[in-house]
Amino acid sequence: MTITKNLSSVTNRIENAALQANRIPTDIDILAVSKAWPAEKLRAAIDAGLTRFGENYLQEALQKIEQLQDLKIEWHFIGPIQSNKTKDIAIHFDWVQSIDRLKIAQRLNKQRPASQSPLNVCIQINIDNETTKSGVQVSELFSLARVINSLEQLKLRGIMVIPSKTDDLEQQHLAFHRAHNLYQQLADQYATVDTLSMGMSSDMSVAIVEGSTMVRIGSALFGQRTTPRGAGQVN
Ligand SMILES: *Cc1c(COP(=O)(O)O)cnc(C)c1O
Repeated sequence: MTITKNLSSVTNRIENAALQANRIPTDIDILAVSKAWPAEKLRAAIDAGLTRFGENYLQEALQKIEQLQDLKIEWHFIGPIQSNKTKDIAIHFDWVQSIDRLKIAQRLNKQRPASQSPLNVCIQINIDNETTKSGVQVSELFSLARVINSLEQLKLRGIMVIPSKTDDLEQQHLAFHRAHNLYQQLADQYATVDTLSMGMSSDMSVAIVEGSTMVRIGSALFGQRTTPRGAGQVN
């Protein structure tokens, strides 16, 4: 019940932002960020109509993937990646949005089983140049994209950004706008690129106005997380 209500309010926010920007609301996908929530919460979310789930912590995610294997779910890995974790990620996920270095891309490519379709990947960009944040520098984006594009078992889908936290609307617009510019350049070069993953519960409307094609929504769908696990924390 709560999830259904929350989803309809998220959908409303998406529609309003899309309308404001003359965009088609269905061009924006919802990734339900389910970190810190148990499998039964995800079942309720699936009943409400959600199909894509994002997880940050591998061990926690693997448990839920196992518990929910009877359901058709698209799993996205969105957390920082340690190189000793790439094998499980390559096998059990459909997407990885947090690629931030060549070594990780190469390992995922090698470890993605040939029997599975190529792993969909986004490059995470450190859009505000924060020293504490994961993600490539803007200057490294295009060379990393070129290599990923050449890897057989990876499919380059786009970019993911987490701008620095601010209540300043203008700052939010600027960061998302820069990300959209980079996305556009990438999409002009690579036909497989169709995903600009940006916007969370607090800033999804601005992200959509600036061109997001996928919003990653946690608390606005599931409620406030009680464990203090925020974006960017390592497993
Ligand atoms: C936790 C998380 C989100 C969702 O954050 P909410 O504010 O709960 O919507 C989105 N993206 C990433 C990378 C996250 O770690």
